[in-house]
Amino acid sequence: MSSITELKRRRVTGNNGVYEELYKEKLQVKKLYDFHELPEWQQDNDKILTGYIRETKSVMKCLRSLFIWNNESVNIYTHLVSAISYFLLMVGITDLLVIPHFPTSTFTDYSIINFYLLGAFGCLMCSSCFHTFKQHSSPHSDAWSKVDYMGIIVLITCSLISLLYYGFFDHKEYFHFFTVLTIVLATACTVCVLSDKFNQKDFRPLRAGFFIAFGLSGVFPVAAGMIKFGIQGIIQRVQLKYLGLEAIFYIAGALIYGFRIPETMYPGMFDFWGHSHQIFHVLVVVASFLHLKAVMGSYNFKHSRLNGVGLSTLHAAY
Ligand SMILES: [Zn+2]
Repeated sequence: MSSITELKRRRVTGNNGVYEELYKEKLQVKKLYDFHELPEWQQDNDKILTGYIRETKSVMKCLRSLFIWNNESVNIYTHLVSAISYFLLMVGITDLLVIPHFPTSTFTDYSIINFYLLGAFGCLMCSSCFHTFKQHSSPHSDAWSKVDYMGIIVLITCSLISLLYYGFFDHKEYFHFFTVLTIVLATACTVCVLSDKFNQKDFRPLRAGFFIAFGLSGVFPVAAGMIKFGIQGIIQRVQLKYLGLEAIFYIAGALIYGFRIPETMYPGMFDFWGHSHQIFHVLVVVASFLHLKAVMGSYNFKHSRLNGVGLSTLHAAY
């Protein structure tokens, strides 16, 4: 018999006030709940059995849960720490220390790189907020999950546009065409994401596939660049090795998220560490960093061309 049940029994059978006190104390210290103790709207992943923060109905309680180690903690902190890092990069360190200075560097260069950092910061911050406030109540959870999806759309959009700029820095008509295409796709995605149907539990694999498809729309400008500049040309212009790795990390993350690997195979074993959503979060952070590497490499390539410096010399310098 669990200690709570035992305390309840003694309380009901009218034992002395000490047990009453113990009972109240025990209820107060219970901060984490099992899957079957959650209200129905909170029961999402039945392969994660323990470590839940139960519906709080309070923003303050949601914020306080940041200091209780629960099955959302890794989800929250992987993206919160990364968001703060991108923010620090964005507010000054990048311009002063990270972006190499060329005589041909312009305000647009700094804007484009910071545009990407803003997208990464926005996405990771939205995600942290979603995982913190989703325990508030069903309507709050639905609203924050839309914020979370919007963050993903913002990150994909900023990622694509930053590379389109450097990939076609000397062919602005390509840049304009594919940027408009990206914005049209992002708008279509936004309309879908804001519909309540998109958020239903059964739509998880579809959601994963949806974001993969939007991300993979980047294949079209890469293919156009291949025809225009040749394979070697596009490899250098958009730093294809980093983009390829980035795509692998994003797709792997989305598949792991979609199929709930590994907790589907071992329910209860990965409640606090290592379940699919946490792996997905880590892979997103790695992929976003690889994209930053690609953007910086493309920036170097553009200015090495404009300044007539060999790219290998430049890489040795930075
Ligand atoms: Zn998440």
